[in-house]
Amino acid sequence: MTETAARRGTALVTGGSRGIGAAAAGALAADGWDVGISYRTRQDEAAKVVAACEKLGRRAYAVQADVAEADQIEQLFDAVTGELGAIGAVVNNAGIVSPSGRVADYAVERLERVFRINTIGAFLVAGAAVRRMSTASGGAGGVIINVSSRGAVLGSAGEYVDYAASKAAVDTMTIGLANEVAKEGIRVLGIRPGLIETDIHEEGRLDRIGGTPPLGRPGKVEEVAELIAFLASERASYMTGSMVDVAGGR
Ligand code: NAD
Repeated sequence: MTETAARRGTALVTGGSRGIGAAAAGALAADGWDVGISYRTRQDEAAKVVAACEKLGRRAYAVQADVAEADQIEQLFDAVTGELGAIGAVVNNAGIVSPSGRVADYAVERLERVFRINTIGAFLVAGAAVRRMSTASGGAGGVIINVSSRGAVLGSAGEYVDYAASKAAVDTMTIGLANEVAKEGIRVLGIRPGLIETDIHEEGRLDRIGGTPPLGRPGKVEEVAELIAFLASERASYMTGSMVDVAGGR
């Protein structure tokens, strides 16, 4: 039987009911974190992630919340704190991609939706985390990990330049916020996954745009989750303001 890791504290993963977020919840639980996750609609998927974390000997809790809505983010943080204790790590993971298309054809509604969730949502979650973690306001410090995309650097031409730009803003926020809160006990980091096998991709998209990354295959969610658990831990204690690629060399 595997020994349960010593408790590190409470971690919150947005969009933790499936894909990279679900794998991150599992990796954090295995590394000793009690884990709160948010889900948008699939309570059944969220319940499975909670059960998997509990099986690892940790406490876990799922809350329905839309990261595009500031009041729901506040309720999410309060509910997880009330159930599992003060939050020491936040994984800003919830995100969407747009349908394939060319910039010249984008409608304003499409742009508003992708920036509202990927960029404004990430800012709101980071802000809620800082208000609770900052040692300047009585918090115990912590770490924020923003899930960006390798597309933020590559641009994703012909597919979803809006998505790539919405994530590039998250990269900039990561670096700026890291400097803003470094003396308040908070580390802020970002990761840029390449193409990872999840349901975020519409049918056929991975084959169409994946090409062959230098490592010869798309990534698996566990390979991203492992990096998240490392960055959240004291093993990464001298890291802040960095963007780390996990993209098979892409
Ligand atoms: P996914 O679609 O499997 O998971 C996305 C999660 O975000 C889901 O749980 C979904 O419910 C949640 N979500 C979406 N909109 C939300 C909203 N408004 N409020 C709350 N939750 C919301 O996709 P994934 O591949 O696991 O993506 C996770 C993150 O990784 C995203 O930010 C995505 O942009 C990023 N990413 C993914 C890839 C990839 O190839 N899969 C590559 C680079 C970056």
